[in-house]
Amino acid sequence: MVQSSILGFPRMGVNRDLKKATEAYWAGKLSQAELLSEAKRLRLEHWNIQKKAGVDVIPSNDFALYDQVLHQIQDFGAAPPRYTQHGLDPIDEYFAMGRGHQKDGIDVPSLEMVKWFDSNYHYVKPTLQDNQVFKLNSNPKAVVEFLEAKEAGITTRPVLVGPVSFLHLGKADRGQTVDPIDLLEKLLPVYEEYLVKLKAAGAETVQIDEPTLVYDLPAKTKAVFKPTYEKLAALGDKIPKIVFATYFGDIVHNIDALPTNVYAVHVDLVRNPEQLDTVIGALGEKTVLSAGVVDGRNIWKTNLKRAIETVETAVQKLGKERVIVATSSSLLHTPHTLASEKKLDPEIADWFSFASEKAVEVAVIAKAVTEGPSAVRAELEANAKSIQARASSKRTNDPKVKDRQSKITEEMYNRKSDFPIRIAQQQKSLGLPLFPTTTIGSFPQTKEIRVQRNKFTKGEITAEQYEKFIEKEIQDVVKIQEELDLDVYVHGEPERNDMVQYFGERLDGYAFTTHAWVQSYGSRCVRPPIVVGDISRPAPMTVKESKYAVSISKKPMKGMLTGPITCLRWSFPRDDVHQSVQAEQLALALRDEVVDLESAGVFVIQVDEPALREGLPLRAGKEREAYLDWAVKSFRLSVSGVKDSTQIHSHFCYSEFQDFFHAIAALDADVLSIENSKSDAKLLKVFVDEAYPRHIGPGVYDIHSPRVPSEQEIKDRIEEMLAYLKPEQLWIDPDCGLKTRQWAETKAALTNMVNAAKFYRQKY
Ligand code: GLN
Ligand code: ZN
Repeated sequence: MVQSSILGFPRMGVNRDLKKATEAYWAGKLSQAELLSEAKRLRLEHWNIQKKAGVDVIPSNDFALYDQVLHQIQDFGAAPPRYTQHGLDPIDEYFAMGRGHQKDGIDVPSLEMVKWFDSNYHYVKPTLQDNQVFKLNSNPKAVVEFLEAKEAGITTRPVLVGPVSFLHLGKADRGQTVDPIDLLEKLLPVYEEYLVKLKAAGAETVQIDEPTLVYDLPAKTKAVFKPTYEKLAALGDKIPKIVFATYFGDIVHNIDALPTNVYAVHVDLVRNPEQLDTVIGALGEKTVLSAGVVDGRNIWKTNLKRAIETVETAVQKLGKERVIVATSSSLLHTPHTLASEKKLDPEIADWFSFASEKAVEVAVIAKAVTEGPSAVRAELEANAKSIQARASSKRTNDPKVKDRQSKITEEMYNRKSDFPIRIAQQQKSLGLPLFPTTTIGSFPQTKEIRVQRNKFTKGEITAEQYEKFIEKEIQDVVKIQEELDLDVYVHGEPERNDMVQYFGERLDGYAFTTHAWVQSYGSRCVRPPIVVGDISRPAPMTVKESKYAVSISKKPMKGMLTGPITCLRWSFPRDDVHQSVQAEQLALALRDEVVDLESAGVFVIQVDEPALREGLPLRAGKEREAYLDWAVKSFRLSVSGVKDSTQIHSHFCYSEFQDFFHAIAALDADVLSIENSKSDAKLLKVFVDEAYPRHIGPGVYDIHSPRVPSEQEIKDRIEEMLAYLKPEQLWIDPDCGLKTRQWAETKAALTNMVNAAKFYRQKY
């Protein structure tokens, strides 16, 4: 029989219960015992959802209070000494690593947290010492949770991050020089001990995640996979049978590193269906294939017919006993259940499948393959109907949008003239001084703004009253910018709840959920809007506020938009058309907005693209180049409709451009503002090396902290930047938007920033 399995389930619960519990615990409103019992309740609930759905192989140890990698750091005794020396109890030590600890005379910052592959989930980086010692926790989490499930009558498959990935995804602690992969010899005995304990507890199989196999790996790292798993295989039935799991990419380029002596290999056949044959060809003689055919990264109903065909192909080659049906990755990246969405249009809701619904899908696919399609006829028919309805719906297909896309011409990607001509005109019309000062868009989003927005959403105040309130906010920030003597103003973005949602709500082709939260990091969740159909702009989105702002400003006012790639990346995209097509549609909608802003008298327009880098495909090469090509084109398409004298800005929340500098340069933005205050000014060297001709505003102070930088500090920072950039190229601005800050610190910091700029203006 073909089994069904899930690689991991979302942890937050149907109402973000885990978020509420952890935050209450941090605030001292919930005891540790209460937190742990809530966590236990959630685990049980999630196992039962999967059991009820008919899933054969249910994961355990996929749960985490903050992050699963962080639990493993602790299970391996790999917490850096600065966390263990205070005698904190294990749960508090765990949270100290995740989010820092500042209490009772202890003051430690958190460990570094970074994006989990190309997802929007963040994991805590294993942070290792030169003389690192690993020691298995006496009560390792996977054993505890396996037994917990067993007690509830559910036999689970525990999940661990594999030894190679754990090290490859880690780093040397500061002041240390160790290459993490060199610690493998020391780490492996701890895994062996862990696996032996799991087997003793009754675990027959274990899922060991080695997703790093999808990367381009250093030869040294690639070479350790086989020997590592040979060593584990040598333990025979002292340990559970190993399911070696990869996801988020193909493993064809690393196929010679794939262990052949494991019980099963899992691959992602949603992202890379074409790897199926190569992987089957590389499996060990008895190795089982876990076929990831239900998307763990998106919210669309699975095309069951197609998924069954894929699984059948594998069954034909391997036989039913050697195939498992699975989700492509953990379902962590999908919302809990569609059942919570009461406000979705039923036509659209019929196209979606969240974690709980995907659990049913894997079970149905497995049954169809085991017993034949007639065993699940009703399910297959209903599914085919939904898939068909979506494909032919008027809401997904807008001929006007397609027609417009077919008429895009080469000129539409290009500004009228080259930069030297443009900047001369801009200088003439804008009349900016040397070292012009500006901010990145948002000003503090006060409680009052949130209160008024809520009232408006609930219908407690009229649109007119809300509009008046927003105008008043704009007046206030304009006045403050006048007093601060900034050179290019912004309207402060008081009307925006979120930089993507705000635009999504104003575009056709988008759908919104009320409960579809996905964990981003720790207790933080995001609710991405969903691209359901062809995108277009029914009416101007930002012109009213910008026009008003211009009307009351004596200096240039910058219009503020979110770019096509960021809109796309921070949404759930469609899976039925290529992302480049969706980006192009967003670009056309934004292009109209840019032109409308210009007509309304806005002659500086910033198009933010902070998500450009995270969209980079995981591997260098053709795929990455193709992505950069369409990403750059969509940006250019969105901004190139304006006159030479209109100045286009773009903003990025990072400054590590080395890998793809050519793409940044190809955006052809007149001014780039980038985050730089916490990184080395040396990162700016690439602008010199590549003879970058246009203007740049590297952030001169950090906006993530309430700390006010002194004028001298900012001057020092500008001095460092001048080692790499010409004075006439340099803009002076903060690292990012100021929405999370308070007004007092904002005014103080900007006063110092403007004074520092004036100092250099005098000097040059
Ligand atoms: N304009 C946005 C703001 O200031 C930019 C935010 C971002 O880059 N993440 O809030
Ligand atoms: Zn930013």
